[in-house]
Amino acid sequence: EQLGEQQAGLVIGRFGQHADIEANGDVFRCHIRRNIQDVVCGDKVLFRQGNDVNANVSGVLEAVEPRKSVLTRPDYYDGVKPIASNIDQIIIVSSVLPALSLNIIDRYLVASEDVAIEPVILLNKVDLLSEQERAEVEQQLALYRDIGYRLIYVSCKSTEGLAELSQLLEGKTSIFVGQSGVGKSSLINQLLPDAEEITGEVSDNSGLGQHTTTAAKLLHLPAGGDLIDSPGVREFSLWHLPIERLTHGFIEFRDYLGGCKFRDCKHKDDPGCLLRDAVEKGEISQQRFDSYHKILDGLDEKRPTYSIDK
Ligand code: GDP
Repeated sequence: EQLGEQQAGLVIGRFGQHADIEANGDVFRCHIRRNIQDVVCGDKVLFRQGNDVNANVSGVLEAVEPRKSVLTRPDYYDGVKPIASNIDQIIIVSSVLPALSLNIIDRYLVASEDVAIEPVILLNKVDLLSEQERAEVEQQLALYRDIGYRLIYVSCKSTEGLAELSQLLEGKTSIFVGQSGVGKSSLINQLLPDAEEITGEVSDNSGLGQHTTTAAKLLHLPAGGDLIDSPGVREFSLWHLPIERLTHGFIEFRDYLGGCKFRDCKHKDDPGCLLRDAVEKGEISQQRFDSYHKILDGLDEKRPTYSIDK
């Protein structure tokens, strides 16, 4: 096969040893050169177009540009495997049904901080709240705004907040994470009413069918911005997390770390703990402090891991 000039592209899908690369508005399904491992959605790559117009797969992906950010999952053999890359923003979706859990939000925040990708907290299904319940929830969540996180209230049903969400996604590559049932699919359907058609098209001419529905895909939003989505991306969490990184993931704690009386301070009953002092003074919320200890208590001492849903 004759190959064209090397050119830049964006990986929008990955299937076995093939990748769908978008360049200048066209999509090319290319072979991945054997010495390249772990090409994922969101990767900026260099490739050469093939000249075989009848082949399902034509052209070669030759290099992956350095990544700005990467999500990984644990892998038995390799430690970790990348899931998706160059993500700017993690939308943490929560709802009031299943019930709002600040502890789960905190787990996702820690996971986001750990990969250094900006999180946004989205509360979906606000249509289910009475005026009074809404006020209570807003009061509960206000602490995140105080810490510096962006907070957005949305309803797929009433469409409240969807315009704001579209705006938030513009010009960025985002992912949606959150427990099952909070409304991630519904949100994506609202933003991309014909997403099914887009993926359907790709799977038709590839003949790969099933594969395309489980692999991650990068989708362009009509209002601007990109979304990377797959079950693996949605369930992204931190599995291997040293305690220091958990502590660091509570960003408002950072200013109080390092100055405690004991170097190995557990920030619990230890005398001279600056973090606990800060809670007592009201500089750090009791809620977040307790949430931190709840996660910490769940960590296995020998193998410090946790999952979001624990
Ligand atoms: P996912 O598991 O996070 O993808 O959640 P789904 O999108 O499948 O939604 C779970 C359920 O919540 C479905 O029955 C949706 O119809 C419902 N749902 C999603 N968004 C809203 C909303 O804004 N308001 C209400 N009342 N229900 C919603």
